[in-house]
Amino acid sequence: TAEKGSGTSARPRLTVLSGPSGVGKSSVLSELRGLGEDVYYSVSVTTRAPRPGEVDGQHYHFVDRAEFDRMVAAGELLEHAEYAGNCYGTPRRPVEAALERGTPAILEIELQGARQVRRAMPEAQLVMLMPPTWEVLVTRLTGRGTEDPAVVAHRLKVAEQELAAAEEFDAVLVNSDVRTVARELLTLVVGSPTERVSS
Ligand code: 5GP
Repeated sequence: TAEKGSGTSARPRLTVLSGPSGVGKSSVLSELRGLGEDVYYSVSVTTRAPRPGEVDGQHYHFVDRAEFDRMVAAGELLEHAEYAGNCYGTPRRPVEAALERGTPAILEIELQGARQVRRAMPEAQLVMLMPPTWEVLVTRLTGRGTEDPAVVAHRLKVAEQELAAAEEFDAVLVNSDVRTVARELLTLVVGSPTERVSS
């Protein structure tokens, strides 16, 4: 049955962009920003330490574990998950506020969180970003150079599981060319609501 989301609803959509670490989600999103559409980009909270160049409140809200736990207990997070030993979560209120004022919203989160959003907001569309080949992903993750080899190995293992979940997603985009994929994503994010077809 495909009763979720009628084709006549004017409600802006919530898009979840997921995909393995290193696939290029951040690059695609900054390309998307450059296209200048009115889209709300969710800023997550995380207990991970900032990487060089990351700005608090812009890339993430960097919080300690106590503050993260408080937000979870207070129901302030739309979804949250643990990933490679750190906690990540989406502040609920800014996303709801964007949708209420008619602005489409996009979350860039990992698989467990995407599944939680699916349950909490069935009308959300889930988009997976895939690498063109496995080798490309390995090269990108290794080349980032900011994580030690054990962390990279762990992220690759998680990546395998994430890619295997592609069939749970409404759309799969292959990141061969960042500009092309950003335009494809934009169409999904701001495009008119379509009925989800069950197969
Ligand atoms: P990184 O540490 O590389 O910035 O992020 C690690 C993973 O956590 C990425 O797959 C990223 O998409 C995901 N992530 C970032 N923010 C959130 C969030 O708010 N919730 C969830 N579930 N995952 C997130």
